[in-house]
Amino acid sequence: MKIRATTKVYGIFGHPVEHSLSPHMHNSAFEALGLDCVYVAFEVKPGDVDISVRALRTLGIKGVNVTIPHKEAVVSCVDDLHPDALLVGAVNTIKNVHGMLSGYNTDVGGFLRALKEDFGIVPTGKTAMLIGAGGAARAVIVALCNEMLKELIIVNRTISKAESLAREFSKHFPSVKFKVFALDDEVGIAKEIRRVELLVNSTSAGMKGLNPLNLPLGLMPKGASVYDLVYDPLVTPLVKDARAVGLQAQSGISMLLYQGVEAFEIWTGHRAPVDVMRKALTVKRFLDETE
Ligand code: NAP
Repeated sequence: MKIRATTKVYGIFGHPVEHSLSPHMHNSAFEALGLDCVYVAFEVKPGDVDISVRALRTLGIKGVNVTIPHKEAVVSCVDDLHPDALLVGAVNTIKNVHGMLSGYNTDVGGFLRALKEDFGIVPTGKTAMLIGAGGAARAVIVALCNEMLKELIIVNRTISKAESLAREFSKHFPSVKFKVFALDDEVGIAKEIRRVELLVNSTSAGMKGLNPLNLPLGLMPKGASVYDLVYDPLVTPLVKDARAVGLQAQSGISMLLYQGVEAFEIWTGHRAPVDVMRKALTVKRFLDETE
């Protein structure tokens, strides 16, 4: 990759950001298509979000991804918001066109595409159970409800957060039936999980193999799917448990890939080289290993 005076700059804002896989994924894609672009990681401290977003205009940076903990804070810093970003209340991709900053949330489309590619399913008409009620849960809810899910059961350690999400999103999606349960309500969960066709973990439980969720996955119907947003380790405890009872299950590396694919296409207008990006994320090696 040659950096010239003409090279267009893209990047990621996060804190911490040094472990991000996105520079590798996007630079591999730029290189594969021969684009005069580079992608770098910017460590942005919480108090510096506004000034950093303004710097996109002054420095002519063409676009950035935004990751933890800034996705919500940048919402008020951009000039316009894509409808998904507005509903989620978070932006993970900014595009700069002549100083006009547009905010997108490609976690929404990235999650849906992961479901399609990994399981061959669409949420339309289905009953899903979502574990978690944080920022990632909001993107999952918008994704599922946009696709006309029938029913969503939100389960969270702190039940008040699940109740608040159900209240908020039932206003936007009146045709979807919402129910909430506390994560320690074993009886309630065991009763509901028997009808769940798709279970999604959007908590950080299971990260690094720690604090695994203890769910009665064996009660889920045959043919049901389990998607874990956690991708470290690639085969999370939840994925392992789900596969052990015969369910199809995948970790969140595919969502990470497809949110990047969408961002790349928004920025460049080119069809993203998905295989190159997947390989850059070392997914292929791990997927081969786990198949
Ligand atoms: P967040 O806003 O901090 O929310 C964390 C959620 O996890 C809350 O619901 C919290 O419950 C729950 N939680 C935390 N520790 C738990 C435990 N030990 N047992 C049960 N529940 C626990 O975080 P987030 O931004 O939503 O991210 C959540 C996870 O999604 C992270 O692992 C992140 O890496 C992953 N993620 C992946 C992708 C992807 O592309 N694959 C995209 C976005 C996020 P309380 O409300 O009770 O605290």
